[in-house]
Amino acid sequence: MSKFFSAKYKNLTPYVPGEQPKEREYVKLNTNESPYPPSKKAVRLAEEEARKLLLYPDPDQKVLTSAVAESLGVKANQVIMTNGSDEVLNFAFMAYCDHTHPAVFADITYGFYKVFAEVNNLPYKIIPLNRDFTLSVDDYIKEEGTVFIANPNAPTGIPLPLSEIERLLVSNPERIVVIDEAYVDFGGDSAVKLVDKYQNLLVTQTFSKSRSMAGARLGMGIANEKIISDLNTLKYSLNPYNVNRMTSGAGLGAILDKEYFENNCKEIIATRENTANALKKLGFWMTESKANFLFIKHDKIGGQELYLKLKEKGVLVRHFDSERIKEFNRVTVGSPDQMRTFIKRIEEILEDNQ
Ligand code: PMP
Repeated sequence: MSKFFSAKYKNLTPYVPGEQPKEREYVKLNTNESPYPPSKKAVRLAEEEARKLLLYPDPDQKVLTSAVAESLGVKANQVIMTNGSDEVLNFAFMAYCDHTHPAVFADITYGFYKVFAEVNNLPYKIIPLNRDFTLSVDDYIKEEGTVFIANPNAPTGIPLPLSEIERLLVSNPERIVVIDEAYVDFGGDSAVKLVDKYQNLLVTQTFSKSRSMAGARLGMGIANEKIISDLNTLKYSLNPYNVNRMTSGAGLGAILDKEYFENNCKEIIATRENTANALKKLGFWMTESKANFLFIKHDKIGGQELYLKLKEKGVLVRHFDSERIKEFNRVTVGSPDQMRTFIKRIEEILEDNQ
């Protein structure tokens, strides 16, 4: 740290992204990327936009926003496009949290929430999940602050029923509830259908997982138009050109290629269920994940040990050090081939361990 770094950031612990190793080829199951390439239409439209890189992108993202709105069944003024969903989440922390509205979120959830609160110097309250990692909405109904819920949650994959989200929304119309739907396309129930009904709801989604575009950085917020207008005020105050031309083109192509998207989601869900069954046969315990990952542990081998042994054998999964989940690993659902290799390596490790 330099001596010039502002005192307000001196104690900041940044978010730690999953490893992106370069030293060798891994079966990479650690950052919940899609195993399938982006849609051909997405690549073609990104290429077309690449030829226009001399010009700034449309700051309103009119074409993409309209296409996204249409595909979600909402109006264009109910959507904002952002640089990954991380950006719209950060806007939400900035827009709706302050010293009278602390951010409220679970102890085991997306690790970036805490960082967004800290970097913006916002108070936050952490609410422990139940013992089985489910979330009790009653714990949040009591709170005054702005609530952030990943649904399905990460890294557990456990979904929260929409009826529970509605119960939270109606319990206090003065409280903003942000539902982070990064993984909703793998079997969750989206709260987008509620944005006309509740003025205090903001839903965030991403192209990073189900649309195979983690490298493009494209996400969106969906809410009533007044909320979207707040978020646009922040966007135009920070980076009006937050979505670059190539990403915008790719996003449009991905939205238009609905069939490819739906097939990939179906494949990943089927692979998730097959992998879960194979792991259960090997004695693993896991949460009921509706995301593109499994959250697993085994009585005979510790979480950290399994992570390291898999890495040695060329399979990368995600291990978290925090006390409550240190015996678990989060395993991204890859292609059937990748998952066969993963299961084989697990079998070898369990055999060696006997
Ligand atoms: N929310 C959750 C729960 C996530 O796991 C992620 C991915 N790390 C994100 C949001 C952000 O994804 P992106 O910025 O790639 O859209």
